[in-house]
Amino acid sequence: MRKIAVVGAGPAGMMAACYAANAGAQVTILDSNDQVGRKILVTGAGRCNITNADVAAVRYACENPVWLNRLLLQYSREELLHFLETIGVPTFATADGWYYPLSESARAVADAFDAALAALGVHKLLSRLVTDIRPLDGGFTVAMHREELFVDSVVLASGGKAYPTLGSDGSLFAVAHRLGHQIRPVYPALAPVTADMRALQEISGVRLDAEVTLMQGGVALGKTFGNLIFTAWGVNGPAVMDLSYLVYTYSPKDMTLELNLLHRHEAWFRAMLTGGNPGITARVLVQSILSPKMAGFILHRAGIQPDAQCTGLSKKEQASLLRQLLALQLTVTGTRGFEHCQVSSGGVSVEEVNPQTMASLRVPGLYFAGEVLDVIGPCGGYNLHFAFTSGAVAGLGAAAGEPFVPPA
Ligand SMILES: Cc1cc2nc3c(=O)[nH]c(=O)nc-3n(C[C@H](O)[C@H](O)[C@H](O)COP(=O)(O)OP(=O)(O)OC[C@H]3O[C@@H](n4cnc5c(N)ncnc54)[C@H](O)[C@@H]3O)c2cc1C
Repeated sequence: MRKIAVVGAGPAGMMAACYAANAGAQVTILDSNDQVGRKILVTGAGRCNITNADVAAVRYACENPVWLNRLLLQYSREELLHFLETIGVPTFATADGWYYPLSESARAVADAFDAALAALGVHKLLSRLVTDIRPLDGGFTVAMHREELFVDSVVLASGGKAYPTLGSDGSLFAVAHRLGHQIRPVYPALAPVTADMRALQEISGVRLDAEVTLMQGGVALGKTFGNLIFTAWGVNGPAVMDLSYLVYTYSPKDMTLELNLLHRHEAWFRAMLTGGNPGITARVLVQSILSPKMAGFILHRAGIQPDAQCTGLSKKEQASLLRQLLALQLTVTGTRGFEHCQVSSGGVSVEEVNPQTMASLRVPGLYFAGEVLDVIGPCGGYNLHFAFTSGAVAGLGAAAGEPFVPPA
């Protein structure tokens, strides 16, 4: 019976342990936390957004989308949902395709995994900080502070550097590097974006939908559409979090967020502005798409009296108002960092991992799963989907113990 150590009891590690044990391996799962699935508890604001109807390689930032597509084809969303149901997590999808447990409880998901691990006979070593992984006689020594474990294979599912208070601090990247793997630079991703808000304090707390473009030196680095909220220090919400990995990929110098607040209403708004009912004031028109607080702010910046009739606005005033609504500018200063981000970008390069088994192409017997790899998805369940999928494939791969395939 193959002995496997799964390092990290997050979603990727727990999935790997379940699949490896189910395939007949003797599995030990290790974590520095005193419970499994610690980070799952905070996902989806406690509701755990498991996956998305729109999962596809193109939705992720990955250096090799072909690699990711090959992995995603190994284990479909239907297989994931079926597996979750068998361990006691039936799911439902919202109208926009975001999947949640029927219970809408992240705790229920973590508990179901815990019970599944026990039922499959997975040995848990909790409150154990793994300090090293060393190849030994065709297998590995997994070193902790005062203990060592000898196994045939290791699944490294130790996460990235996001939210370090929940256990993942990136300390095992150095071990993966020493074992022979390239580590791509690690940055906060899905993070709130900090900006110069000195002139925008009055809209702190305003929440709205916008098309957001991250610009640098006249070049659009990325574009999203979604919800955001202005704060005293910058902007939060999915629309900016999805762009945040680009802030340090390119460095925040000369970077702006450009907000299109009209988006789907532009044609209608232009028609009303230039040829609408003479009784409609600028305030009424802008408040038809924005909250009174935001509308007042926009009109002030555009230099327009709120009670001015739209038909009486000069061409210059109309252009000024449209400029504020179509391209509201915020100067980016950075992101809120690892402490406040949901995932980290960078990590183990996928180029050195076989997407069909998640086996290392550098070290025989070593497998990877989850956020430890250089793959990130947007908000909406994509990151848990990747963790679960790569975990299932790694668990099966490690249990099968396929012969080592050296790089071509
Ligand atoms: C606030 C928040 C909300 C989120 N919401 C969602 C959501 O709704 N949907 C979604 O798809 N994604 C969400 N995410 C992202 C998602 O949680 C991650 O993508 C996912 O947890 C990654 O899984 P993982 O198993 O690879 O890593 P992790 O969950 O980070 O697990 C890695 C585990 O390894 C352990 N570990 C690390 N180093 C060591 C060591 N040296 N020794 C022993 N143990 C170690 C850690 O303690 C940890 O338990 C959210 C993240 C956060 C922070």
